[in-house]
Amino acid sequence: MPRSRAPEMALWRLDCGHFDIDDLEGRGRVLMPVSCYLIRHGSDYVLLDTGLKAGLVGTSERQTGQTLTLNRTIADQLGQIGVDPARIGTLVVSHFHGDHHEQSGTVSNARLLIGAGDLAVFRSAPPRERELNPWLNGKRPVEAVTADRDLFGDGRVRILFTPGHTPGHLAMLVKLDGLSVILTGDLVHNRDQLASATPSGNHTDKVRGKAEIERVLAIARTEKAEIIVGHDQRDIARLPAFPAAAE
Ligand SMILES: [Zn+2]
Repeated sequence: MPRSRAPEMALWRLDCGHFDIDDLEGRGRVLMPVSCYLIRHGSDYVLLDTGLKAGLVGTSERQTGQTLTLNRTIADQLGQIGVDPARIGTLVVSHFHGDHHEQSGTVSNARLLIGAGDLAVFRSAPPRERELNPWLNGKRPVEAVTADRDLFGDGRVRILFTPGHTPGHLAMLVKLDGLSVILTGDLVHNRDQLASATPSGNHTDKVRGKAEIERVLAIARTEKAEIIVGHDQRDIARLPAFPAAAE
């Protein structure tokens, strides 16, 4: 018997809401999806981001220039694929913006991995929703990320430390059997920014942000990985439609 077998891998894209934007930078109305991802590595599960708050289901929230909606909760979607949220051992929050962590209470057994700079932001200004409070209050384990990190030591799930959009922004490389993908977080907001390595208007550090986009593009070439932009409606079809998983 070989000592170790390759782990069974799978990746699901979860619907974590939408921003219905009245007029995005003069381009008119844009429906911007919010994406979360569940990664299976053998018997371990990792959740990347937790989207908009569960309370939006069945209603919507009007903010200046945009309306926030959520069709289904993460808990509901996990139930459909038979994954008990208690089995998810690692929660990675790409950055501190609300659309990336407002259903975090769903995965109460997980350790939280977040960029050190973003953890510092949370500690100085706690988030509007209280879902992350148990981690921020020291009741659940938190690890601050300050560099790229190989989660399982086999290169198949790698956190990419990519500051720029926020001080501790994280993206993720996932190497499945059939394809490799880079899940961007908000490294960019749409695919058009990739070709020219253009940071978003709300990047806190545009110089570092541009350098990190270029670094991710280089990793994508080396790893033959497809880049999937979480907020770009055009990229949703790059992964199988839920409940199907990429393998
Ligand atoms: Zn976002």
